Order: sequence, then structure tokens, then C-alpha cells
Amino acid sequence: MGNSTIAERLQEIKDQIKNAEIASGRKEGCVRLCAVSKFHPLESVVEAMRANQFLFGENRVQEAFEKFTEIRERFSPEENKAELHIIGSLQSNKVKKAVSIASCIQSVDREELLAEIEKQCAKLEKDIEIYFELHTGEDSKAGYESLDALLKSVELCAKGNFPHIKPRGLMTMAPFVDDEARIRKSFSLLREAKEKINSEFPSLEITELSMGMSGDFKIAIEEGSTMVRIGTAIFGEREYK
Ligand SMILES: *Cc1c(COP(=O)(O)O)cnc(C)c1O
Repeated sequence: MGNSTIAERLQEIKDQIKNAEIASGRKEGCVRLCAVSKFHPLESVVEAMRANQFLFGENRVQEAFEKFTEIRERFSPEENKAELHIIGSLQSNKVKKAVSIASCIQSVDREELLAEIEKQCAKLEKDIEIYFELHTGEDSKAGYESLDALLKSVELCAKGNFPHIKPRGLMTMAPFVDDEARIRKSFSLLREAKEKINSEFPSLEITELSMGMSGDFKIAIEEGSTMVRIGTAIFGEREYK
């Protein structure tokens, strides 16, 4: 990373996203950037905000809660355009806290979690957006194990079982391998899953494909990503505590 600043790296990534959009014949600006700030301090988030980056992703609810509560206190409501997406696997006992600070939970991976999100949102009288996470080949077990299980959850949403939950997209992580074909396969599986959902459940507005990280976002954009989640290439290496 040399001595570049967060603002410079953000600009660099935005340029690369734009180039990838153009190279794959897609509309300029069709891919949103979610800056993944997990394990990075509040000051890094603030620095990104000063460089006009407002969409952030965090994995751990407690860490996100501390940072983003502090941001609410530091910035006036007009200034604070920060938006938080939870992208890490979510335990049911953390849902209450998660829905109190996030606008979207991208890592919905089981029916039981939908029920808990609905319950907590109902208490807060708050609507929340969600993405369904599909396991498409990554080593960890994150995400719905099968498309059938995911479709069952989508169907419950389409039936109106969870009135506070707005399903908006799908999310996946590609395997951490060098084999580009395997990475691409993972992303194309997610795109095909979305096409199937769009045709089977036209009443739902499932438009987002959250896929692509620091190492593979160009491939993801070629495969139709509408949101890339980038941490390391913006904030630097994480120090796991
Ligand atoms: C950490 C993480 C990212 C960002 O990964 P980088 O390789 O640092 O860009 C994206 N998505 C999820 C779900 C993550 O956990």
C-alpha cells in the first residue's frame, strides 16, 4: 500500500470499478462500493467519510455497534450519511443490536434468522433490507447450503410472512483460490440464482448481487455484480486481535 491515504486508495478502487464496468459493457455507475471497515478503527471510517464514501460493511455486530454509535454522536444528522450493512454471519442473539444500527443485513443464511429479524424489527417499528447469502464454493460454511433452502425462505418473504423485511438481493463469497474459473463459477451461480428468483417471485424487488472483494472484484463485475465489498484494498491489511 506504500504511503497512500485512504482517500487515494478509494479513488483508485473507484477508477478500477469504472474501468471494469466499461470493459464488461455495463453501464457506468451500476456497481456500488461497500467499504469493509471490519477490524479498522473509527478514524479510518471517518477518513473514508471525508472522502465521500458512505456505505460501510462490518462483520461483527458489537464492533460495528461501537463504531457506528460513535459516528452518530460525532456527526450531525445532516452530515451523517453513513450507511451500515452487516456482512458477517449473524447469531440470533445479536440480531436486536444489528437491526438497531444497520440498514441492511447481507448475511441472511437461514429461515430462523428471518423470524428473529422480523421480531426485532417489529419491536422497533423499523423496516430493514436483507440479502440472502448463498454458499457457492467458499471454504467456510457461510450462506445457505443449497439454492432450494434459499428459495424456501424467499417464498416465505413473498407470502408476506415477514412484513418488516425487504429482500433486495443476494450475496456470496467466492473461494479463496487462484483458479479464476472457480471464482467466476461462484459468481455466475449467484447470478443464475437471482434470475431464477426474479422469474419465480416477480413481486419481490430482488435487484442486488453483492459479490466481489479486494482480490476478485473485477471478475465479479464481469459476472454482473451490483455491489462489491472491499476492505483490504482501501483500509490496508487487518490486524486480527
Ligand atoms: C472481510 C470481508 C470482505 C472484504 O474482504 P477484502 O478481501 O478485505 O476486500 C468482503 N465480504 C465479506 C463477507 C467479508 O467478510
